[in-house]
Amino acid sequence: MRRHCWLIGFVGSLCLLILGSVLRTQLQNLMKKQFQKKYDVVESFTAPGNDMVAREMKYFNAPEGRIWRIPIIMYHYVEPQKNDGDTIRRSLTIPPHIFEQQLMTLAEHDIPTYFVRDIPAILSGDEEYATPSVVLTFDDGYQDFYTVVFPLLKKYNVKATVYVINRFLGWKDFLTTKQLKELSESSLVEVGAHTLNHAYLKGISKKTAAYQIVQSKRELEELLGKPVKTFAYPYGEFDPDTIRMVKEASYSAAVSVVPGMEQSTANRYYLYRIRAGSLSYGDEMLRVLGVAQKGSN
Ligand SMILES: [Zn+2]
Repeated sequence: MRRHCWLIGFVGSLCLLILGSVLRTQLQNLMKKQFQKKYDVVESFTAPGNDMVAREMKYFNAPEGRIWRIPIIMYHYVEPQKNDGDTIRRSLTIPPHIFEQQLMTLAEHDIPTYFVRDIPAILSGDEEYATPSVVLTFDDGYQDFYTVVFPLLKKYNVKATVYVINRFLGWKDFLTTKQLKELSESSLVEVGAHTLNHAYLKGISKKTAAYQIVQSKRELEELLGKPVKTFAYPYGEFDPDTIRMVKEASYSAAVSVVPGMEQSTANRYYLYRIRAGSLSYGDEMLRVLGVAQKGSN
């Protein structure tokens, strides 16, 4: 009888454990699907030009300032293209050999890289800025940032800013906290915040949005033991309220998905970016960045 009890207890716990892990995976998949579904996938690249900067300056009632050409490239996945029907993931992916070619091109042309956290000082004229140069950003904190991107950053001595989602750390396909700590200690990586769970900031209450913005920064700073200075809006969604919250949370800058390269103090909290997919190989990268050849800019 006692053996039976033991057996029932054992099988019961095993079932609960399996059920728990299945539910956890299901929940993660559901959240992941939901967050990927909302991506607004824009394949084409169009530079907004000064008109757009002027219009947005007016919209946000921002003072005018000098406009700097600072190309910020937005990457998501750097992995071999999979043909698994996941079109969103495919559109957010650039294969490792193309990424390496881009870094090789930067190295060959001595094009320096900056972190997003360097941008405020550049915009205010307090930090010297070399042109041409480029800022590489990686959204969401996928696992391949550690396995593919980081080794290449070290190989070519290139800097990058990675925007991580606190609650997704340790999930399948995402960075672990251990990896993030190692990345954060490297002089080639800036870690930025991207909310606690990839929140759609315009679709939730102001209180929750503010919590997402403040708490993601606080938790990352606790984890990494250093200040987290920049923020990326999930889905690129922002409005005057979210900008105010990001400022109040003491971030010094934030990146958007508005296409463009012309940055100023006016759009310090919604810096424009270029999609990596629009760059492709190194030569095209140089063309998009406006660098025909070494020393031409
Ligand atoms: Zn994202």
